[in-house]
Amino acid sequence: MTSIGKRIESLRSTLPPHVEIVAAAKTQSSQDVLACIEAGIGIIGHNYVQEAQAMIEMLGRRTATWTMIGHLQRNKVRAAVELFDSIQTVDSLPLATAIDRECRKTSRTMPILIEVNAGREPQKSGVFPEAAIDLIREISQLEAIQIQGLMTMGPSVSNPEDLRSIFHKTKDLFDCIAAADIPNVSMDVLSMGMSGSFAIAIEEGATMVRLGTTLFGPRN
Ligand SMILES: *Cc1c(COP(=O)(O)O)cnc(C)c1O
Repeated sequence: MTSIGKRIESLRSTLPPHVEIVAAAKTQSSQDVLACIEAGIGIIGHNYVQEAQAMIEMLGRRTATWTMIGHLQRNKVRAAVELFDSIQTVDSLPLATAIDRECRKTSRTMPILIEVNAGREPQKSGVFPEAAIDLIREISQLEAIQIQGLMTMGPSVSNPEDLRSIFHKTKDLFDCIAAADIPNVSMDVLSMGMSGSFAIAIEEGATMVRLGTTLFGPRN
């Protein structure tokens, strides 16, 4: 077994079974991404449309499902809709509208997550928590979009414990939106936690963690 396979096997045994792992594949080789897929990781996340395109061409669409985890520029929406099975970083009505428009052309529906800027960092993408529910109500009207949950990054901190309150706040928001019972919106997926913080994120209610270095080793 590859070292990636071994890492995944031992990690898997420590995670609750309902938690899904997304392999965050930025800068990784197709060989290493393939090792992940062969070790049972079914969802591969990319930050960049072009990187995903090259990887999907090399490995083939059906080897995994492909999810966008990076900030999506509007001029990349067409390519993103062609490539990705889901998009985790929708944070505005114009972006959602552009995705909807592209999806309608090919009669597709795009599963998305709403990216929440739970740390309220001015320079970061994501909708502020207090604006999330209004945005979700608006996006939920778009026919070709299916909101499935929330995603958050959180600030970069040296002590991952500092993210606990942010994850907690995001889970509260998630529950609040679920309770609002908005037509065409399901709150099934809460994507939060990365290599340094996934254990805390899971304690706070994450159903999906996005892992790079934990699976692949340190990035160059
Ligand atoms: C890189 C990245 C991750 C994973 O980061 P690691 O710390 O290597 O686990 C998760 N989510 C996003 C959006 C990323 O860009």
